[in-house]
Amino acid sequence: MTDLNHSHTGANEEEELVTVLGHWSFDYTYFAGSHASRFFRELSHKRIMGTRCPQCQRLLVPARAFCASCFCRTGDWEAVGMEGNIDTFTITVQNFPGLPEPPLVLAYVTLDGADTALINFVKGVDLSDIESAAGKLLESPRVRVVFGSKPEGKVTDFCFELIPDST
Ligand SMILES: [Zn+2]
Repeated sequence: MTDLNHSHTGANEEEELVTVLGHWSFDYTYFAGSHASRFFRELSHKRIMGTRCPQCQRLLVPARAFCASCFCRTGDWEAVGMEGNIDTFTITVQNFPGLPEPPLVLAYVTLDGADTALINFVKGVDLSDIESAAGKLLESPRVRVVFGSKPEGKVTDFCFELIPDST
């Protein structure tokens, strides 16, 4: 079901832009590929793994099959540290379908030993004052990885937790 909304300002109707209202809601599955599949399997063992590029030597996390900088296949699998630094973040105060109740902190974190960042929720941030929380996060604080008690091989198996007074 779609609606076409035409606005008639009178000026030049042939050049007016049309907006189209739509709605998608569907379940789907996708093939995660060999590297993402192993990455998720390792999560179920509470390990976060990357793959190293044989040319630039960067450890790419989450593990991937190709280095996007060198366009070559990655090599060895290596586990990264369980702590890291927040590179960038967002605080959302809006409700989104499928996400926990806001306010939420989502951050890209480079874990110790890794050369790229991965995204997940950050817990342990005092969000009673969003502005001061953002100021604290801008100081690139340390976080630790916290796994749930029953990991299932999903990205939701873990989250980041702010290490108090780490800046
Ligand atoms: Zn590379």
